[in-house]
Amino acid sequence: MTTNFDIQKVDPVFGQASFDGHEQIVFCQDKDTGLKAIIGIHNTNLGPALGGTRMWNYANEWEALNDVLRLSRGMSFKSSISGLNLGGGKAVIIGDSKTQKTPELMRKFGEFVHSLSGKYITAEDVGMETKDMDTVREVTPYVTGISESKGGSGNPSPVTAYGVFMGMKAAAKYKFGSDNLAGKKIMVQGAGNVGKTLVEYLTKEGALVTIADIHQDKMEAINQAYGATIYTGADLYAEEMDIYAPCALGATVNDETIAKLKAKVIAGAANNQLANEQIHGKILKEKGILYAPDFLINAGGVINVYSELHQMTRDEVMKKTENIYNTALDIFSLADAQNITTHQAALAIAQKRIDEAKK
Ligand code: NAD
Repeated sequence: MTTNFDIQKVDPVFGQASFDGHEQIVFCQDKDTGLKAIIGIHNTNLGPALGGTRMWNYANEWEALNDVLRLSRGMSFKSSISGLNLGGGKAVIIGDSKTQKTPELMRKFGEFVHSLSGKYITAEDVGMETKDMDTVREVTPYVTGISESKGGSGNPSPVTAYGVFMGMKAAAKYKFGSDNLAGKKIMVQGAGNVGKTLVEYLTKEGALVTIADIHQDKMEAINQAYGATIYTGADLYAEEMDIYAPCALGATVNDETIAKLKAKVIAGAANNQLANEQIHGKILKEKGILYAPDFLINAGGVINVYSELHQMTRDEVMKKTENIYNTALDIFSLADAQNITTHQAALAIAQKRIDEAKK
């Protein structure tokens, strides 16, 4: 038992740079299962805070807290701009999903979610699968992304990929004058659940796709299925390309990468692509690189899970996701008209709807 109760850092939660007026932050711990989780509820003006649970081996608790604060905030804007009546929330579980995730741990996590009485609704994110949500469903109804066989909407990734494809087409239309991606050189970074379906859409349209991943087998599978070229170089950011599609991790658009980037469009699935929203959004604008805001074009997944809460047919889900194309075009025009970044334009529209819901 520790006897040293000295305060280690000043203002560790509300003083974080990533703290943005979040309504509630819940720290969850269970000794028996080893659960250590944080649930972040950013805003519930538009409805219950919905967002996935990420299980990640964070280097320390600061990283986990920072991640949940940033991700839950992003969810508020994502749902708002997509016209969904949902607030923004997210959860992180600290640990290795490959070795530390057990049904007992997931059930215990579900109990914590349940204790919030529906103010937060969970779903899958990195390190989680549909079957984990099925386990959470055993102890709480406040979970989405459960198996189709159990009445859920299943894996959201293919719908996310469709939305990214639509957002990318809108960006191409705005930047190159046509939304036809045939012949365009596109670098897809991340051969995961979203990346794979995105490559399928792109190659079907005749785009010249290169796929980059840290796992050779994943790239090979995509090469065999869709004919995408496997990236073998050492620095993908410096390659010749028309479009860069980040579909792996966040913060890949930063000082170092922007300096090398030859792409004219950035459109991908990853959350929080800009390392610093203000600084890097502005540099992209100055360099003439059109950035399709991540939280707008990767909203297909949340639209899909929304159908579990408000009856929507598959057709309606796909139509709403397709509309990302029109919203993206509106945002690009607004950004130009007001001489602001595309990220700022998207944020302003999302924030307005959140503010109006409070009145
Ligand atoms: P995933 O875990 O299935 O795939 C991610 C892939 O990125 C993996 O193949 C991994 O090997 C690869 N990767 C990791 N680091 C890399 C690196 N440095 N360089 C190249 N590849 C690397 O995840 P996913 O479900 O496909 O999601 C991809 C991204 O989109 C994530 O950032 C996720 O948060 C975001 N996102 C996903 C959804 C969804 O519906 N799945 C919805 C919204 C946003």
